[in-house]
Amino acid sequence: MKLDLSIITSAYNEEESLPSFFDRVTAVADKMDIAYEIIVVNDGSKDGTEKVIREHAEKDKRIKGVFLSRNFGQQAAYLCAMKLLKGNCAVFLDADLQDPPELIPEMYAKHEEGYDVVHAIRTRREGETIGKKLSAAVYMWLLRKGSGLNIPENSSEFKLYDKKVIDAIVAMPETTRFLRAQVTWLGFRETSVYFDRPAREKGKTTYNFKKLAKIAMNGIVPYDKKPLMLPLKIGAFIGACSLAAFVTFIVLAALSIDFPFAAWIFPTVGAGVSLILISQGITGIYLGYAYDEIKRRPVYVVREKINFGEDEENG
Ligand code: UDP
Ligand code: MG
Repeated sequence: MKLDLSIITSAYNEEESLPSFFDRVTAVADKMDIAYEIIVVNDGSKDGTEKVIREHAEKDKRIKGVFLSRNFGQQAAYLCAMKLLKGNCAVFLDADLQDPPELIPEMYAKHEEGYDVVHAIRTRREGETIGKKLSAAVYMWLLRKGSGLNIPENSSEFKLYDKKVIDAIVAMPETTRFLRAQVTWLGFRETSVYFDRPAREKGKTTYNFKKLAKIAMNGIVPYDKKPLMLPLKIGAFIGACSLAAFVTFIVLAALSIDFPFAAWIFPTVGAGVSLILISQGITGIYLGYAYDEIKRRPVYVVREKINFGEDEENG
């Protein structure tokens, strides 16, 4: 059966937050007068998260639980939910209630207006240290620069997607998954809603520098081959400097102007270094092409088809 809305979260050690998560989400969704489901993916929690999900699922059949064999990370958990959900659209939000469920009706209304992707943008971050805010800003800057994608600033995974966007994300064959970058790469009609992000009430954040660094790499490496070209550029620069030095020294020698013989070391070593770097860069170009092929990403994605007969919406 098709539903109007799927509400998705992933939970890693969220036994304390989940009861109020279910309370607040069902309170909001019940008022919307739509057919909905709530899917919670338990991402290998070590606390009583699974028990809390089972208890709630027992009482309310619209609450569905998925239990992963171990901790795979939020990105993997969300992909798992994407393959299972039945809604015409789906909202993804954190289980710790830092993404307020009360925003769901506003996001759903944007979908009704015809938007395929609705970003929830934080206007303020409460309870976060200067350090966390600063590292978040640097992270976002790196991500946008590195991926070359216009990923909305101050957005997280708190978003609504139309079913066709979800199908397109699921159809992307790469194993390295980073939703924020993938959805920006896909395009579609997008808009934003805004909220003040509250501090986490219960439990503690599980994101550490290592996890964030890995996510940032996942957002950069599959989208940009610039790092592979770096040796070529540096090699070309050193080569150009060496050439300029060679020419200068030859002119000086021709004009019988005295300069230390040792100065020849710079252009000679420079020429060697630049040759090595340039050949490394050329290998990089080939590696880049091979890499694109291995990813087997679709060359284009159909948003809609008309006059093709039945099953038009599914592209
Ligand atoms: N989470 C998850 N798997 C993990 C880490 C986190 O499913 O390996 C979930 C977590 O339960 C929460 C959301 O991802 O629902 C965001 O995590 P957290 O609050 O720790 O991150 P922060 O808000 O500090 O960025
Ligand atoms: Mg949080």
